[in-house]
Amino acid sequence: MRFMQSIAVSAIFGLAASAISAAEVVVYSARNEQLIKPLFDAYTKETGVAVKFITDKEGALLQRLKAEGANTPADMLITVDAGNLWEAAREGLLKPVQSKTLSANVPASLRDPGNQWFGLSVRARTIYFNSQKVKPADLSTYEALGDAKWKGRLCLRTSKKVYNQSLVAMLMAEHGEAKAEQIVKSWVGNLATDPFPDDTKMLEAIAAGQCDVGIANTYYYGRLMEKKPNLPLATFWPNQQGSGVHVNVSGAGVVKYAKHEKEALALLEWLSSDKAQNLFADVNMEYPVNPGVKSDPVVAAWGSFKQNPLNVSKAGELQADAVKLMDRAGYK
Ligand code: FE
Repeated sequence: MRFMQSIAVSAIFGLAASAISAAEVVVYSARNEQLIKPLFDAYTKETGVAVKFITDKEGALLQRLKAEGANTPADMLITVDAGNLWEAAREGLLKPVQSKTLSANVPASLRDPGNQWFGLSVRARTIYFNSQKVKPADLSTYEALGDAKWKGRLCLRTSKKVYNQSLVAMLMAEHGEAKAEQIVKSWVGNLATDPFPDDTKMLEAIAAGQCDVGIANTYYYGRLMEKKPNLPLATFWPNQQGSGVHVNVSGAGVVKYAKHEKEALALLEWLSSDKAQNLFADVNMEYPVNPGVKSDPVVAAWGSFKQNPLNVSKAGELQADAVKLMDRAGYK
């Protein structure tokens, strides 16, 4: 892995050094190669612009962009979760761009109000339940998972994961800190077992009857059900009478010190377009961000739902406070 990466990196530096080459754009991506390569291949085929990329964990890519500063070969950063995108912007790693195409293709709540990053696919963090033990009518809201009837029946993923930090940040934005802390405490009091290291293990625990309900990202459910379609697991869309389902994005921004800024913006616009949105979203069982593009039929079959309209950048703004709140609430 590391060996492969160093080859990729030296290839990038080699290209940067050879300069004045044909049009190209260099991407740092926290999204896996298998998710982005088909897109970039399609883009190159359509435009003739070469896309060089490396993939790594989101934290490592941010560190790297910081360390490289003005010398970075990167033109675009792709990463998951508004919390990470917000952090990249706060660190001064991205540059604001003005684009009518992006404003039209990406709903305002799913992009940075300062235009430094743009959501490209949507994942919902919703409620899953054991369909042999729970009826949809038993469920209503995220908040109600703290009700006494769920004592010893709730499973959660660790609070260390950015997805839960963003979820709690959005609860804080909606309810204020004191009420949000009460809600998280009530969840902790209902846990059937220690928090899980990932969404998939948590979903499997629900299916196995270790607990009855939990919260996970939609695409983990999709992947698991693709492998094990008979699991007694079902989706519930909470807060439909109120604030809506918590959504987050994977997205991208143009790097502050991009050497190919125009090319990076053109690629970003293309990624938000009708042509690319299904390629971007469907391969990871996510929802297209562009409201004019239909979801993959497998994803659409989970049903339609009202999304929380709060700007996802709130998840970034309140993330540090959310981490402290979860710690006080005893959410491990
Ligand atoms: Fe994930």
